[in-house]
Amino acid sequence: MKYLDEYRDRRIARALAAEIAQRTTRNWVLMEICGGQTHTIMRYGIDEMLPKSLELVHGPGCPVCVTPLETIDKALELALRPKVILVSYGDMLRVPGSRSDLMRAKAQGADVRIAYSPTEAVKIARSNPDRKIVFLAIGFETTAPANAMAAWQARREGLTNFSMLVSHVLVPPAIRALMVSETNRVQGFIAPGHVCTVMGCGEYEALVRDFRVPIVVGGFEPVDLLEAVLMLVKQLEAGEAKLENQYARSVSYQGNLPAQQIMKEVFEVADQKWRGIGLIPRSGLRLREEYAACDANRVFDLGELTVDEPAECISAQVLQGLKKPTDCPAFGMGCTPENPLGAPMVSAEGACAAYYHYRRHAVTG
Ligand code: SF4
Repeated sequence: MKYLDEYRDRRIARALAAEIAQRTTRNWVLMEICGGQTHTIMRYGIDEMLPKSLELVHGPGCPVCVTPLETIDKALELALRPKVILVSYGDMLRVPGSRSDLMRAKAQGADVRIAYSPTEAVKIARSNPDRKIVFLAIGFETTAPANAMAAWQARREGLTNFSMLVSHVLVPPAIRALMVSETNRVQGFIAPGHVCTVMGCGEYEALVRDFRVPIVVGGFEPVDLLEAVLMLVKQLEAGEAKLENQYARSVSYQGNLPAQQIMKEVFEVADQKWRGIGLIPRSGLRLREEYAACDANRVFDLGELTVDEPAECISAQVLQGLKKPTDCPAFGMGCTPENPLGAPMVSAEGACAAYYHYRRHAVTG
């Protein structure tokens, strides 16, 4: 299959790994931002193909993992209200809130429905005029255009029973927050290809310039990631810091301009709390004033909530590349995909789930 087989070719992968080993003369710490990339690394054992002096740490690019506990609790509260239909992506149903999760709420009789796109939630609103439909709109820049389109569509149709509980996060401010942190160990980043398909890669130039850190936009197949690692190693060994695009078959410098346009029309940049990490300035999106009627926070007068993370879960450190999932005492013991304590063990993009599914639970489990 074109654009797939060649990116899973063992021979090409081994040749890239050999060149990486030959060019690496010092210790380097690299971070892949996206949870999808983490899963590829674990699934294909890419970290084990690399020299010991090259450490891959996993970043905060799992949308489910960084959705604040407070948002889950708000979704739970809404789901249990009369006449509400709570619509969500499937991954979110098992993410633990502070007391329960949406799957349990559903079992208790709450009308919680799974959707594969936000337009399904608009459709549910259209066909249930006597109910209030709330879509749990989470994610990075990748899902923001579709969520923006749903709000735009609902407003255009005058649907007064559709709203969104929004928790959108942006990648570049998260990289900036990692770089200014006193505990940062990361010396080069693999930026998330899907996000850059929408946003382009131009917005990463400022990070490269401000922190003199190499950034390579990377894809999601094994050969993509090995190529991205090689590009980073070449820069680091040469003392360079540049923005490069390994995923050029999908990502342009400017990105998808119509998608960015609908995002800008519906959302505005705002401070955003990241689960486990805390508040990062201007790292999220909220609905603009013109879309207040679609904002579940306002429609249901939800107010502010502050909830403590479970003490046993070290996901904050995992999401910042400071610890590996197997460093967590609960990994594979008190915390498994069947009984998750934290979101990274639930999500299809969570680092803890990746380690658990692809053999690493043998380490402690
Ligand atoms: S293994 Fe479970 S408890 Fe530990 S960091 Fe991951 S999600 Fe949290």
